[in-house]
Amino acid sequence: MATTQLIHTVAELRQAVAELHRQDKTVGLVPTMGALHEGHLSLVHACQAKCDATIVTIFVNPTQFGPGEDIDKYPRTLEADMEQLTTAGVDLVFAPAGEEVYREGHVTYVEVGGVAEPLEGVCRPGHFRGVVTVVLKLLNMAGADKAFFGQKDYQQLAVLRQMVRDLDVPTRIEMCPTVREKDGLAMSSRNRYLSPEARQRALILFKGLELAMRLFDEGCRDAHEMVREVTRLVESVEDARIDYVAIVDAETLAPIERISRPVVLALAVKIEDTRLIDNCLLYPMPDQD
Ligand code: AMP
Repeated sequence: MATTQLIHTVAELRQAVAELHRQDKTVGLVPTMGALHEGHLSLVHACQAKCDATIVTIFVNPTQFGPGEDIDKYPRTLEADMEQLTTAGVDLVFAPAGEEVYREGHVTYVEVGGVAEPLEGVCRPGHFRGVVTVVLKLLNMAGADKAFFGQKDYQQLAVLRQMVRDLDVPTRIEMCPTVREKDGLAMSSRNRYLSPEARQRALILFKGLELAMRLFDEGCRDAHEMVREVTRLVESVEDARIDYVAIVDAETLAPIERISRPVVLALAVKIEDTRLIDNCLLYPMPDQD
């Protein structure tokens, strides 16, 4: 098995990618904040299937954490991450220090409108500004051909697609399906914060999606009714605090009344002190409306 190289500087990254491109290899990027699980590894596998070389970045990006969100508490498990990425056969891991990404005097940030405004945009002001800025920086540093992101963070994907389109970034953004635990809970680095009891209660997010999909299959096309039913279900769980349950247009993320084109049902719920998000896509057939 080829070894997985761990690098820390932008200069090393650029040099490695230039060499890969000289060899006519396509390069794929998988940006992460580490504390890797099967969800991240599914992005790695998708990247390996579509690109000749796979680069994983591990960086806990300070600019996407809000004032009340404890960045110091975010799990950092570089050694275990490296083990998983080596086993997966990743070519290169880029794990820069904070100062390597945000050099002294950094004052430039990228702000996306439209799709970045509802949902997470309301609950976590400034979050996407941090995400978009760091992802654009990583794309510029790596000059990758494709970059891979999870559907788990659907709005993030929509925001990054918008940014890439608006700023003529030559990297293609690819979406990979959400990977779940056996019982349906979407994998997340934050799941490890949940106590065993809270872990059980956290299943309500997936149950909410299941209910929405069942209602949809039964012919429900009224977004308000569906949101009302899912909200009622989530609220039935003790100590589950809803940030939002929403049905929005899958492309524009604008609110909709009737499900007559592809939509996403997205929810954000706090269980204990852990904020969890999940979503599912609903695609009506044109003749079903
Ligand atoms: P994070 O480390 O949480 O910033 O996530 C890095 C990437 O992994 C993002 O593109 C996420 O959408 C993706 N991701 C996280 N959890 C999952 C999951 N359960 N299934 C698929 N992708 C995921």
